[in-house]
Amino acid sequence: MDNKVLIFGHKNPDTDSICSSLIMEKLVKNFNVEAKAVRLGNLNKETEYVLKFLNLEAPELIEKVSEGQNVILVDHNEAVQSVDGRDEAKVLAVVDHHRIADFKTIEPLYYLAKPYGCTATILFELFKQNGVEIDKTIGTLMLSAIVSDTLLLKSPTCTEKDVESVKELENITGLKANEYGLEMLKAGTDLSTYSGTEVINLDAKEFSSDTKKFVVAQVNTADIDDVFSRREELEFAMEKEIADKKLNFFVFVITDIINTNSKIIALGSDKSVVEEAFNKKLDEFDSMMLEGVVSRKKQIAPVLLEAAK
Ligand code: MN
Ligand code: MN
Repeated sequence: MDNKVLIFGHKNPDTDSICSSLIMEKLVKNFNVEAKAVRLGNLNKETEYVLKFLNLEAPELIEKVSEGQNVILVDHNEAVQSVDGRDEAKVLAVVDHHRIADFKTIEPLYYLAKPYGCTATILFELFKQNGVEIDKTIGTLMLSAIVSDTLLLKSPTCTEKDVESVKELENITGLKANEYGLEMLKAGTDLSTYSGTEVINLDAKEFSSDTKKFVVAQVNTADIDDVFSRREELEFAMEKEIADKKLNFFVFVITDIINTNSKIIALGSDKSVVEEAFNKKLDEFDSMMLEGVVSRKKQIAPVLLEAAK
């Protein structure tokens, strides 16, 4: 067991999960708590870009926690997305911006949930409320996370709070969100070095309703056709995942960050749930175009969960 409080985001960590873990580490250390940011998976290229830009080391990779380990969760709360062994760990605090599902603890805790576009926006507010200095490094981590989660403030998940925070963070860091942020997002769209299996696992989240279990995986791109040209390889990987995890269906979302649209591919014995959810037929490639849809959290997962009831 680690004596320090371990801070982590969800599995398949995205930029918000990694940046918010590092930001939270700084905040709790400020209250003289021994803490360490860790991660539950590989960094994606977007997050690698951020850490390289700041010359920061990636948080240590962990796979499970032992009984009684003190932990703080950021950017998630659902057990399936969290560390293995979490039910036996002691959750001291949660800072999150997702729906709350199947969340149970043994002891009381700090739980801060706000429907902002990014966990880092909640942390930005916490730093200010507690009078903790936001230096350029922390400011850049915050800015990066917000740009990532809100797709440069264009996602429907983006709130006025996120917009205001980015304005202030541009002043603190001297960075322009439109310039630095676009470079960062573009760094994340390079899928050329990944196998089909890796691509569908880069940002995959599992969901379950009472009767259905499914995964929604998402990648960002500046060119949907470019990713879609790997359809056969991706479908092969999806089929394997469906069999291995006994999923009812798997949805792969290819999101165009420039035009803010998504094309999805849906496979699995219950893929009709997807047609029902979006009230649209899958074409001969098991795909459909979803105009204006970019947010898994707000525009995809809720409708799928509703249709899967
Ligand atoms: Mn996240
Ligand atoms: Mn987030």
